[in-house]
Amino acid sequence: MGAGEKGRASLCDDPNSVVRVGDRRSPLSGHRNHQDVHSPQGLTDIYAPGEHKVRPYSFNDDSMMLLTNPTYGPAPLRIAMLSVHSSPLGPLGASDTGGMSVYVRELSRWLGAAGHAVDIFTSAGPHHPDRLLYPNVRLIHLGKGLAKTPPKDGWLDLLPMVFEALDAYARRQTRGYDLIHSHYWLSGVVGAMAQARWRRPHLTMFHTLGAVKNSTQSGENEPDIRIAHEQWLAMATDRIIVAAPREQELLAQWYHAHSSQTRVIPCGVNRDLFRPVASETARRHLGIAPEAQVVLYVGRFAPLKGVDRLVAAVSALRPRFPKLQLLIVGGDGPRSGSSRALKAMAARLGIADAVTFKGRIEHPDLPPYYSAADLLAMPSYYESFGLVVLEALACGTPVVATPVGVAPAVIREGVTGTLVAGADPRDIAQGIARILGQPAALRPDAASIRAAVQDYGWPRVAAVVAEEYAQLLAMHDPTHATPAISPGGWPNENWRCLP
Ligand code: UDP
Repeated sequence: MGAGEKGRASLCDDPNSVVRVGDRRSPLSGHRNHQDVHSPQGLTDIYAPGEHKVRPYSFNDDSMMLLTNPTYGPAPLRIAMLSVHSSPLGPLGASDTGGMSVYVRELSRWLGAAGHAVDIFTSAGPHHPDRLLYPNVRLIHLGKGLAKTPPKDGWLDLLPMVFEALDAYARRQTRGYDLIHSHYWLSGVVGAMAQARWRRPHLTMFHTLGAVKNSTQSGENEPDIRIAHEQWLAMATDRIIVAAPREQELLAQWYHAHSSQTRVIPCGVNRDLFRPVASETARRHLGIAPEAQVVLYVGRFAPLKGVDRLVAAVSALRPRFPKLQLLIVGGDGPRSGSSRALKAMAARLGIADAVTFKGRIEHPDLPPYYSAADLLAMPSYYESFGLVVLEALACGTPVVATPVGVAPAVIREGVTGTLVAGADPRDIAQGIARILGQPAALRPDAASIRAAVQDYGWPRVAAVVAEEYAQLLAMHDPTHATPAISPGGWPNENWRCLP
């Protein structure tokens, strides 16, 4: 029996309508029978077949009026974007906030710019009034009933209540949502409840897969309940978006997802923000000696990230590269267990003077870090994408990475960096030595490294995702005309799975 059977109070008037997670009837199957569906009062007329034109929000803000952008077709959509356990405005680099938050923010922003109306729902952090993030994009907090954000393993019981709050919110709108796009399995569960009650298509993005995390040697230990729900969602949702072709294979291998159900759509990078800065300027700005050889790490301190392996690799390289410095960006602050453990490790290995912990750095302040570094290291055991790879390349900095996520698609040996066999310190050390050992005159310039990410702009990602939405809606409701949305396909042939 699932944890959800303990039951919880809901924000809904009718407790019988609460879908309990882990029920033998899944949230989806529990509502397959129409008579079983809690009547979505006020929504039925809203969901008239074929009607997908968006009316302006009933939101007292002129900038919420939908833009009409002919490039993206005549039928803007209303999208419920679910990011329940992690806010897109959360602290990047901390344990629960990383690439997924960037993804939700940027995707929504560019869907909004294309004229679609996006409501991002979260229950993370303190409750706040609805916020306008970008034109056509609102952030809505559903956590009024939550005393404080629970730890990750405390979310499951709360999901029915979160769903009832979402449903109540949708009912108060002029009209409901055309589709649901959920992120991470916890939001996936809420999305499945909405899929069932609203009878709208549901796309999900897992961001990482619990079963794959557990299969690595990193020491991650994701609970069975997560894996069971991911497996179930892999069957129950209308579409799974993955960011790299390998992820599609892993979904088939671990959760038996059929390739026709998954779509590979890469993530993007903000190329206006992440652009090369002259190394000397960046180093002066950050107080880094011109002669130092700088290896940069940017990200969370989760075991999966292999930061400890990187510290060990730097220690092994110090005799050969005495000016080697490791700059670590991210983490949960100096007093967190992971930070203290990494510092203790550096001290034990005698390289405390070579390792600098910068703490979390906000996106706008990150470009000088990438530009000041000789290379970015991504020593992860597993990544579903790895945004930091694109950010470093966009800044003209080569990357040493394990062959995970986006890395194999954008790393060209000796040009944009090097791929190492795995998260073993010796492999990582060899990769770093390959880059640092290159004579300066032979190193590719920043512009040719940056060229590797020219196809990875967020507007393009949003256009391809919107195309997927439209195709799914057309399948769901054949009277829905598919808008001519994107220029079509993805030009990088490494992404073979795209149309
Ligand atoms: N990040 C940041 N500040 C930090 C640490 C990380 O802004 O101090 C950002 C980083 O720039 C990237 C994201 O967090 O955009 C991490 O995404 P990635 O896909 O690399 O890893 P994930 O967090 O998804 O595992």
